[in-house]
Amino acid sequence: MDADTAPSPLPAGDPAAYRRAIRHWLETNLPPAWRSDAIARAEPSLEELKDWEARMHRAGLWGVAWPKAYGGHGLTLREHLIVSQEVGRLPMPESVNSIGKELAGPILLAIGTEEQKKRFIPAILEMREIWCQGFSEPEAGSDLAGLRTRATHDGKVWRITGQKIWTSGGFRAQRCLLLARTGTLEDRHRGLALFALRMDAPGVTVQRIRQIDGEAEFAQVFLDNAPVEEADALGAPNEGWKAAVRVLEIERATNRMYRAWRLENELRHLVSACRADPNLSALIADPAYAQRLAQFRIEIEVLKRYVEGVVEDLVSGGAIGGRGSLIKLHWSEAHQRFAALAMELLGQASLPPAPEVRAAQRRFRKIYMRARAETIYAGTSQIQLGIIADRILGLPRAA
Ligand SMILES: Cc1cc2nc3c(=O)[nH]c(=O)nc-3n(C[C@H](O)[C@H](O)[C@H](O)COP(=O)(O)OP(=O)(O)OC[C@H]3O[C@@H](n4cnc5c(N)ncnc54)[C@H](O)[C@@H]3O)c2cc1C
Repeated sequence: MDADTAPSPLPAGDPAAYRRAIRHWLETNLPPAWRSDAIARAEPSLEELKDWEARMHRAGLWGVAWPKAYGGHGLTLREHLIVSQEVGRLPMPESVNSIGKELAGPILLAIGTEEQKKRFIPAILEMREIWCQGFSEPEAGSDLAGLRTRATHDGKVWRITGQKIWTSGGFRAQRCLLLARTGTLEDRHRGLALFALRMDAPGVTVQRIRQIDGEAEFAQVFLDNAPVEEADALGAPNEGWKAAVRVLEIERATNRMYRAWRLENELRHLVSACRADPNLSALIADPAYAQRLAQFRIEIEVLKRYVEGVVEDLVSGGAIGGRGSLIKLHWSEAHQRFAALAMELLGQASLPPAPEVRAAQRRFRKIYMRARAETIYAGTSQIQLGIIADRILGLPRAA
């Protein structure tokens, strides 16, 4: 089935039929060589990925729960969850606009003006505008309220001066969800505002940063009097912190909602690669390894229940709150342990490794290195523990 003849509107009233239609579309349309478990893998280009995501949207797989007035499909988070589960089942490329679709989009829908929603949301879904997130600074990561990038109004436009760092995808983005200071440093979280900065504005310089895996997925962004039109200021000038906290809650709880199902796919892939190798088949039958694999299986099930619970609460009008921290801590720590286990196992493969084992080694090497960052981005594990202590357990603060 082609994207343009895909069943949109999908049979949302019937969850089983809806799931079947999504699964069928993905299995029919995802190029087999793009699967990260493929023996003959071919890395898609940025243009191919943009085209793929635009097709996914036309087929009803992005913007599932967003209003039709802004190019969404007008369903609920329950259908979004079904799509996420099916996306997670297949080892497909990560979105190159996940910040646009999973962070900027929801916050624009929550605090944007009607004009902003009509302008920004369709551009995100149709992949005309990729977004990045400009929150962290060299002296303000965990302590985000200490950020120094300044926004001043010159009577006509806002002017932004400062520096952002660890800006994922900053080099390919057309827009940045930027948090900047409108008040004094002493105002801390009270004097902050959120903007939709154009990345091609004068005064914006992007410098890529190379990572441990050899790729250069993030950047530092220098801002020298960069203009932002009044129409691109998001929410009230002093309410940026409230919006930023909401963005972080989304980032921790429902961003990449497919995660638990993708982890399940990774576990399945590891076990099947091990079964293709006599040494590894024996190892995974060993109680010490079997126990660690079973532990990860349990952790995946716990994560699924967390995510499904949050979705049900959000559908009934509840909020994510501190649970985002619980979920983020759970998946990032569990995934790091699993990635280390995968490397330990695959490193003991027979020589020369079978093609299935080589494909798994290639995939898990990447996963292992990326997992190192998972306990850092979206707030470190220590920060999540602090939030859990404070907001969930209500423990007293250390004097
Ligand atoms: C892969 C990756 C992608 C990222 N993408 C983006 C992005 O797109 N946009 C963006 O804005 N940012 C991004 N970040 C930045 C990320 O949000 C920060 O790295 C993170 O918030 C931690 O801040 P920091 O690096 O300044 O470390 P610091 O805040 O300096 O922390 C250093 C250490 O001190 C500990 N620590 C700090 N404060 C406390 C405390 N109160 N209690 C206990 N321990 C504490 C931390 O846990 C950590 O171990 C990304 C980071 C990574 C790794």
